[in-house]
Amino acid sequence: MAELDYYEILEIERGCSQEEIKKAYRKMALKYHPDRNPDDKEAEEKFKLVNEAYQVLSDESKRSIYDRYGKAGLEGQGFHGFEGQSYEDIMDDLSAIFESVFGGGFTGSRSGRRGGAKYNLDLSAQMEISFKEAVFGAKKELKYRYKKPCESCSGTGAKDGKVSVCEYCNGQGQVYMRQGFMTYAQTCPRCNGSGEAIEQKCPDCGGRGYEEVEEIITVDIPEGVDDGNRLRIPGAGNVSGGRRGDLYITFYVEEDEHFIRHGDDIYLEVPVFFTQAILGESIEIPTLRGKKELKLPQGAKEREQFIFRNEGVKNVHSGQVGNLIAQIKIIYPKSLNEKQRELLKELQESFGIESKPHESIFESAFEKIKGWFKK
Ligand SMILES: [Zn+2]
Ligand SMILES: [Zn+2]
Repeated sequence: MAELDYYEILEIERGCSQEEIKKAYRKMALKYHPDRNPDDKEAEEKFKLVNEAYQVLSDESKRSIYDRYGKAGLEGQGFHGFEGQSYEDIMDDLSAIFESVFGGGFTGSRSGRRGGAKYNLDLSAQMEISFKEAVFGAKKELKYRYKKPCESCSGTGAKDGKVSVCEYCNGQGQVYMRQGFMTYAQTCPRCNGSGEAIEQKCPDCGGRGYEEVEEIITVDIPEGVDDGNRLRIPGAGNVSGGRRGDLYITFYVEEDEHFIRHGDDIYLEVPVFFTQAILGESIEIPTLRGKKELKLPQGAKEREQFIFRNEGVKNVHSGQVGNLIAQIKIIYPKSLNEKQRELLKELQESFGIESKPHESIFESAFEKIKGWFKK
């Protein structure tokens, strides 16, 4: 296949600026995007070339190699174009380029493996935080490990970086199998699709091609973050191909002994002694930001709720503050001594008929069932 010049592909001058390269790429990429040219093989090939060209020219070090030695010079550095690869295979690579030029959302935010990369650029980590840290935010250190290409083998996994073309698939990464009259492509079983052969494994990374580096970062936990929320730290992920992915931190929030969180609202169970509920006393309750007075009405009921506006959690996105909901739990004495029993009886009698509500309510029922048992 005739090799097209990257500058010609993007229809730009050799000495043009990065801004012009980006502009030209935007135009061409949109023109040949497969979503706009369904089932158009020619547009798909063009689209691949446009992306390949941009991948090289947008990177000043790759561009200078290309300017001096052409595509062959880049291949010597382990760079392979998209030629001969299926669109699906290079999609992850393309979406990463797309995201950097157009922002997320155009091809979906998949930013997975680069062609030939042995791991994803993006990395995820978990972080356990206390209830208080989640509610009020905090700065906290996180220790994690990211991957970067092994220096001694330049990420190839081969001793001294010596790689040759996989003989089994001729460097295609795919082999064609025949079964009856059908021919189908399969990932090369010998090189696992890399198209490369390694004679001797790199002793430093054991042939993996990467090393793991421990890093400690200070995470700025946003106020109001909730269990399962994710935070993106740009440029703190894995390193590959001269780029660094993002780190996604998922928070796990410890439960509190007293406060139960539901979204931005906080529930608090308030134990109230039965006499307090009857008398309607005022009691002090804890809130997230200090103490509050809860004025019980006379005859407060079991599970009755009292809402304290804006005493909940500040929403991590909107900044709106939720409520605190105090729920009554009436506590009865476990046992009574002689004196208490006397006092309660005396109290009950002082209420007269009011202390026997079942009698007045069931009066007609008692009359009715009397008739049922008469023979
Ligand atoms: Zn192979
Ligand atoms: Zn190595």
